[in-house]
Amino acid sequence: PTMPLFSLLKKSYEERPDCLAVVDEEVRLSYRELYAYVLSFASSLWDAGFRRGDRCVIMLFNCKEYITTYFAVLRLGGTVVQANPLHSSEELKRVMEDSKAEWIVTGDGEWAKVYEACKDQPGKKLIITGSSLYGRQEALCFEEMVEKGCVGHVPEVDVDPETDIAVFQYTGGTTGKSKAAMLTHQNILSNVCQNEHFTVKNLSKVDEKLLGVLPFYHVYGMSAVLLLGVFRGSAVICIRRFDPKRLLTTIKNEKPTLFSGVPTMYMALLQQEEATPETMQSLKLCMAGSAPLPKDVIRVFEEKTGAEILEGYGLSETSPTTHRNPVGGLRKVGSIGIPVPNTDCRIVDPDDGDRDMPVGEVGELVIKGPQVMKGYLKQEEETRSALRNGWLFTGDLAYMDLDGYFFIAGRKKDLIIASGYNVYPTEVEDVLYRHPSVKEAAVYGVSDEYRGETVYASIVFYDRGSLDPGQLKDWLKERIASYKVPTHIDVRTSLPRSSVGKLLKAILRDEAEQNQK
Ligand code: ATP
Repeated sequence: PTMPLFSLLKKSYEERPDCLAVVDEEVRLSYRELYAYVLSFASSLWDAGFRRGDRCVIMLFNCKEYITTYFAVLRLGGTVVQANPLHSSEELKRVMEDSKAEWIVTGDGEWAKVYEACKDQPGKKLIITGSSLYGRQEALCFEEMVEKGCVGHVPEVDVDPETDIAVFQYTGGTTGKSKAAMLTHQNILSNVCQNEHFTVKNLSKVDEKLLGVLPFYHVYGMSAVLLLGVFRGSAVICIRRFDPKRLLTTIKNEKPTLFSGVPTMYMALLQQEEATPETMQSLKLCMAGSAPLPKDVIRVFEEKTGAEILEGYGLSETSPTTHRNPVGGLRKVGSIGIPVPNTDCRIVDPDDGDRDMPVGEVGELVIKGPQVMKGYLKQEEETRSALRNGWLFTGDLAYMDLDGYFFIAGRKKDLIIASGYNVYPTEVEDVLYRHPSVKEAAVYGVSDEYRGETVYASIVFYDRGSLDPGQLKDWLKERIASYKVPTHIDVRTSLPRSSVGKLLKAILRDEAEQNQK
């Protein structure tokens, strides 16, 4: 269907007004209450001068104010600019300049950074959530705007779902500078329907609850949790920060049925004694994506909790989901699954970007579908290289098996070419994870005069003194070809990760190259 994204909320309000929509700490809102909250805020935003095409940064952890702002901005035909509340004022400044946002909604905790980023930029309109405005004369008060707003007062605004940009979604910046993927209403709506069709259509409508622990400012949390929940008329539980112990208490008390997480969350949960089948019994479906999910994590998690994890795959550029292991269908461990409906995929020669690779051979994954972005904001060259003849070049290496299941071999940029041999880091990491002492592993290439690149690994052990790197190398040599065995293994207490738990290999690589000098 072609509809503005706001209609998801409207439909659930009309069909299920008294059902639970949002749980935010002690506050519980029904769809009727959420709808009124959104329209009240939209009416005050309009009165404050917000107009179609305006851009609003949301810099908040998951909370009812995030959800309210998101839908109010879309209702008025604006664009949501996603920002990580952990951004420094410098990073925020860059987002504000790049997106040309005039508006920003933020919380008490982020205020100092926001103020710093905006203080010499007149004309920015700041809105702050939280009860006290003391010392913040520059800002409008969110709660006051909601209170003063009038539900029946919001003018109709024309939105063209096909061309209007609903969200500027900044990519993770894992491989370089973060860029904003421009996602239309239609891009995102298509993906919500694709996710619904593929993953949860066999859940009942009654009393489903989604655990909102993935940040909504990230495309995965926004689309696969928040919007999927609103689309189904289910309840979304807002969790501000991931803390495994507290999350288990929430699972016990709130009894969510659906959990979407990233691999590091599953790994952290496994370390908790309380992660038992009893605690987790409400969960009907667990989904993982955003980074490779080590096979052993799946096995141990499922043994320990009885809850099945289905892996999927996506990118900011595709709103985000393109692949999933189907619910109730064949699940392949280690695979990202099959394409979601209406999505075409090819594996092409990574060098020429054109020739199709035979089944089973690794090449670059390229995608076509209604969820593919319009382009990157103000990055024409990047857009031209990512979007070619309607195909999105993902920058990821993958292969397809005879059943049509896809397997990610790693990022094109992370492929290691050591003495002319291709080494796929994920393959080596998967083997490392099979060693009982290995808690976390990162494999990457470091430039080398003779070999071009050498394979390096950084490891976190469960018990630091348990093993030395030489023993681990010997163990690896018995399992993989010697050119794949890391020449250097460094032992650490933690690995650098992004806010959604992605390994930041560029940092490890830079450090190793510095140490070589
Ligand atoms: P940037 O593009 O700025 O470097 P990023 O790639 O981390 O940052 P995102 O859009 O958040 O930006 O992440 C998409 C990437 O995440 C994919 O291209 C892929 O490399 C990785 N990814 C997603 N799901 C999986 C998965 N199931 N297995 C392996 N990798 C995955």
